Amino acid sequence: MHISVIGTGYVGLVVGACLAETGNDVTCADIDARKIEMLQASRIPIYEPGLEALVERNQQQRRLTFTTDIPAAVASAEVIFIAVGTPPDEDGSADLRHVLAVADVIGRYMTRELVVVTKSTVPVGTARKVQAAVAKSAQHPFHVCSNPEFLKEGAAVEDFMKPDRIVVGTEDPEAIALLRTVYAPFQRNHERMIVMDARSAELTKYAANAMLATRISFMNELANLADRLGADIEHVRHGIGSDPRIGYQFLYPGAGYGGSCFPKDVKALQSTARENGMPLKLLAAVDAVNEAQKRVLVEKVVARLGPDLRGRRLALWGLAFKPNTDDMREAPSRVIIEALVEHGAQIVAYDPIAMDEARRIFANASGVSFAASPLDACDGADALVIVTEWKEFRAQDLDTLRDRLKSALVFDGRNLYDPTLARAAGLEYFSIGRR
Ligand code: NAD
Repeated sequence: MHISVIGTGYVGLVVGACLAETGNDVTCADIDARKIEMLQASRIPIYEPGLEALVERNQQQRRLTFTTDIPAAVASAEVIFIAVGTPPDEDGSADLRHVLAVADVIGRYMTRELVVVTKSTVPVGTARKVQAAVAKSAQHPFHVCSNPEFLKEGAAVEDFMKPDRIVVGTEDPEAIALLRTVYAPFQRNHERMIVMDARSAELTKYAANAMLATRISFMNELANLADRLGADIEHVRHGIGSDPRIGYQFLYPGAGYGGSCFPKDVKALQSTARENGMPLKLLAAVDAVNEAQKRVLVEKVVARLGPDLRGRRLALWGLAFKPNTDDMREAPSRVIIEALVEHGAQIVAYDPIAMDEARRIFANASGVSFAASPLDACDGADALVIVTEWKEFRAQDLDTLRDRLKSALVFDGRNLYDPTLARAAGLEYFSIGRR
């Protein structure tokens, strides 16, 4: 099948590479010429485990090509996936400019009957807008369908190849039949496609992210209470996660959620609700708790070292918003670094993958430098602040860590270490929601 994916970011590139892997002829198109040039040379602009090999193999076998020529990508396709960004507008609502611009181009350059699939996360009612934008100049029949994406950065290829579910939002039998064919290789083991109307599919994506964000904020708020009460949130987590009705996933207290999805999607869903006269009180609290949580580590540092951090050197581990990605969009590390620098601290940061991205983000910031290894960052530091739970941070030898730090002070925003062991190693150890 000839498939075009418009928008070659975290989602579009994974979708394109995985659909090529299952034998389709895929064209990935993007307006970002630098990105497309890199991809044409088999260089991957993002870090995503397993993606590079997949792209290279399918390029070599000529099933995957990259272009900035969006009209040409439209003209050759039987199915078009729209995977462009939907960033937050000033009022928190999703900005549909890119999605509708692509829909407009599809209408103008389509050369045959085709199916338009919206992969981007879009507010309820967008399928209709896409339909109208394509229809303005379409010379051939077409079918519109919502197909939200649930992949997780850091495990995106695996998630796309073995999806828990494939949500398809349309009542158009032609679109349903075609997507059944496209997704057949991904559901050989059992049926994963859940077909519903477009509005429900659009809402499903927001509901999923809002639920996950809610669990995180719930645990963060309880962790702060546990701190106050002298209880241990990790025991509480085990105690409730063992209930199958609750489960263990997404119950980790920490330094707040970030990334390109949860913050923006929680805000966009609130905006949709407000526009429809039904403000979502719960989600407003989820958002507010998260904003406050990003500052909890800073508050702990200031409580221990005082508000004047001039002349203090702080090691900081973890810049990406979560492990296994280089994505720093809305990363808690950004808020934490900015706040500590405002207090006068010098930050020496380390991240296994996101350092190039961080150098770009902090290019004009004074007070931020980067180290070649986690322990190098600690040399001569007055404290270590841990922000992202990369595996390599968990396995650190605590005696060596103590020796490399100037003061044996650790502020752990991800509860990586056993407090008893940390103390036995001579560390003064602060974590989230534990005595
Ligand atoms: P991204 O910013 O990484 O990629 C978007 C790409 O679209 C960019 O490369 C940009 O240059 C391109 N683009 C913008 N306008 C264009 C146009 N008119 N024509 C062609 N290309 C254009 O974004 P992303 O993280 O891949 O997210 C894309 C969508 O998928 C968003 O709606 C997001 O909410 C959703 N989503 C993201 C994830 C995730 O984990 N990143 C998961 C599920 C859903």
